[in-house]
Amino acid sequence: MPKKPVKPAAAPAVKKPGKKKAQLLRGMKDTLPQEQHYWEYLRDGVVQASRAYGYDRIDVPMMEEYGLFVRSVGTTSDIVEKEMYVFETKGEDTVALRPEFTAGMCRAYIEHGMMNQPQPLKLWTDGAIFRYDRPQAGRYRQFHQSDWEIMGSPQPALDAELISLGQHLLNDLGLQVTVFVNSIGCRECRPNYISVLREYLKEHKKNLCETCKLRMVKNPLRVLDCKEEACRMITTEAPHTVDNLCEACREHFMKVLEYLDEGEIQYRLQPRLVRGLDYYSRTTFEFVLKSEENEPSPAAIIGGGRYDYLIEDLGGPGHVPAVGMAMGMERVILAIKEAAVPVAEAPKPDVFLAQIGETARKRALKMFEELRKAGIAVASNISKNGLSDQLSLANRAQAKLTLILGQKEMMDNTIIIRDMNTTSQETIGQDKLIASLKKRLSDM
Ligand code: AMP
Repeated sequence: MPKKPVKPAAAPAVKKPGKKKAQLLRGMKDTLPQEQHYWEYLRDGVVQASRAYGYDRIDVPMMEEYGLFVRSVGTTSDIVEKEMYVFETKGEDTVALRPEFTAGMCRAYIEHGMMNQPQPLKLWTDGAIFRYDRPQAGRYRQFHQSDWEIMGSPQPALDAELISLGQHLLNDLGLQVTVFVNSIGCRECRPNYISVLREYLKEHKKNLCETCKLRMVKNPLRVLDCKEEACRMITTEAPHTVDNLCEACREHFMKVLEYLDEGEIQYRLQPRLVRGLDYYSRTTFEFVLKSEENEPSPAAIIGGGRYDYLIEDLGGPGHVPAVGMAMGMERVILAIKEAAVPVAEAPKPDVFLAQIGETARKRALKMFEELRKAGIAVASNISKNGLSDQLSLANRAQAKLTLILGQKEMMDNTIIIRDMNTTSQETIGQDKLIASLKKRLSDM
């Protein structure tokens, strides 16, 4: 078990505020307004694809019992060994910020008796994930994943359908990707493979990195996804999981590949793909950008696989086979930017409402809401006084029309409509404003 966190004696003292500038934590990221359209584009794509493929949304907490993650992800995984944010609450519970979604989704499945609903159950979610990882380009300590899980069936067609969702979602978002697939077998055949692998690794022990020398004893499968060049050279020649599968697993994997062929999903077999988490069984897969598919260790955009024992191991109602995948949202956005996919920015307002003087400002507050309710895309800046300031704001917002409400207009119950393109202006009665705007905008 990893070291238990030390309980703080009391709430940590906060240093006197002083003059020190407040700063972002390392590995964290602000998503600024000018980036939000990428997130909207991605979330829209995710929602549409999830609905189309028949998934229901679920939300699970960001924090769970620490033991839940240890039991699911496994004690020898990087996540449990070094990447979890773990702490003790005032009630002396040891909790962790979620380092992935599957464990929490399985807990919810068990806790809400979802096995009593028609199976399989298809659930999706998205949100923040926390890993105390070494920050670098595209890798953060708080990042976001979209996640899909299918619980309650061993059917290989579901593995293929999930991969198909990943492929088509990424394509629809404008990305060209390749999916690597493998099968790591079940509890029947994996022990045999592990001993074959361990024998092979023993012969090359002296050239393995120090971590892999330990992994070779504790969890030799993890040597297969070591990023060190020396280890990679050795594992390229290592025995393949697929050559050591039992009959049932081999058949399952062949079926998955057949369905992928039928679905015209162009996959590549990757015998070293074991994934870093303990709960996987049978199918494992990862999507990478097509432009990076031949690099020695391309950064995955989506990772997933089967986890036929996890729900049972977490105290579920017997054997509940399942398969799932998670997509790194920051990585997708980075790829969308790099591929220069055209992503529409937030829509521009059609109309800018400018006011001059205190009485007009008061009226403008209400008028803004009347226009909004009438379905007119309107913007304003109620804090400004001068007209020229407001006209330049209207120009910057690319409004087609500006409404000018001054003292005289307030007295006459009128308002000026200025065409921002021609600069021509017309005064009309306030009671005719909405009808007149609708007509003008539809003519433009
Ligand atoms: P995993 O749960 O490790 O398979 O991760 C699933 C996906 O999340 C990966 O394929 C990445 O796209 C993304 N991801 C994992 N770790 C990070 C990180 N530290 N920062 C940003 N994205 C990440």
